[in-house]
Amino acid sequence: MMDEKKPARDWPEKLLTWFDGHKRDLPWREDKPRNPYHVWISEIMLQQTRTEAVKPYFNSWMERFPTIHDLAEAEEAEVLHQWQGLGYYSRARNIHKAAREMEETYGSRLPDDKAAILALPGIGNYTAGAILSMAYGKKEGAIDGNVLRVYARLYQVEEDILKSRGRKEIESLVEATLPDRAGDFNEALMDLGADVCIPKNPRCSLCPLAGECVAFRNGKEKELPRRSAKKPPKEEAAACGLCIREGRVLLHKRPSKGMLASMWEFPMALAEKEEDAKKGLEQLLSGTTEDCLWTYKHVFTHRIWHMKAYPVKEVAVPEGEYRWFSPEEYREIPLAGPHARLAAFVEKMVD
Ligand code: SF4
Repeated sequence: MMDEKKPARDWPEKLLTWFDGHKRDLPWREDKPRNPYHVWISEIMLQQTRTEAVKPYFNSWMERFPTIHDLAEAEEAEVLHQWQGLGYYSRARNIHKAAREMEETYGSRLPDDKAAILALPGIGNYTAGAILSMAYGKKEGAIDGNVLRVYARLYQVEEDILKSRGRKEIESLVEATLPDRAGDFNEALMDLGADVCIPKNPRCSLCPLAGECVAFRNGKEKELPRRSAKKPPKEEAAACGLCIREGRVLLHKRPSKGMLASMWEFPMALAEKEEDAKKGLEQLLSGTTEDCLWTYKHVFTHRIWHMKAYPVKEVAVPEGEYRWFSPEEYREIPLAGPHARLAAFVEKMVD
């Protein structure tokens, strides 16, 4: 008798057949055989960024750093500049450090051994599984949010997938179902999660697994996966100073540790309230602010900046890493994500 709670054993085959006919054309999937360096960089870029947005970054990255050796030889500032706009810059720093380790230890190649890959900076279980399965043909799973969602629905996993019990349950299901074509299977799950088994309103009528899916059979596809409520992000007012002197703007280099480390930004003060942020900025620059010229809301994972930019008169340059830059100069330095937007706005003022 068929177990009502489980999809048929051969569902991975059905998914692979669907994948063979539907796989997305993506620049990092073009090489035959797959290039481990391409898999690695694309997977790191895709961690926090939509696929469509990643494509141009991936292409220009590969033009600038065609090999691990080119990347290892580059200066960190150049690597960060190339990453600019993708956010979460620790990813770029780790890529750079890992490339240098590979240059020194593995002859500028990505190792094909799991323990060695996991020991590299910025490579966790998911990325290691993706590289090993897609580029080296090993039978490894790669569990990310898409996979958790698809399995939670397919097997009607009622546990919270953000807690260890739910995650473990899915990990053992993945291990038990992984076929020999693990790399294709992992990519098929990614494509299914991106286009069909999407977070809200899954498109079950288009799904190759609709006949297998327990949540769909029981009308629970929109209820699952279960996940505990996240803490709301911290909201802050960010007052940014526009200090322009003889066609140059004043910028500040952030500390080498913490959020947006070592990136350049406009002088900025953060506070809970807008008025306090503005006062903080006036104190920082010992000047007076004029009317706000630019506003922008930047959403990070755990915080939101409500940014406002004010021209500041009578500036005294504070202690620390502050420097005046022309637009030609600041186009070449790594600017912290939201500040790059402000820089584009300021460029028009300076010209
Ligand atoms: S049938 Fe629906 S819920 Fe189930 S795997 Fe397919 S898209 Fe997801």
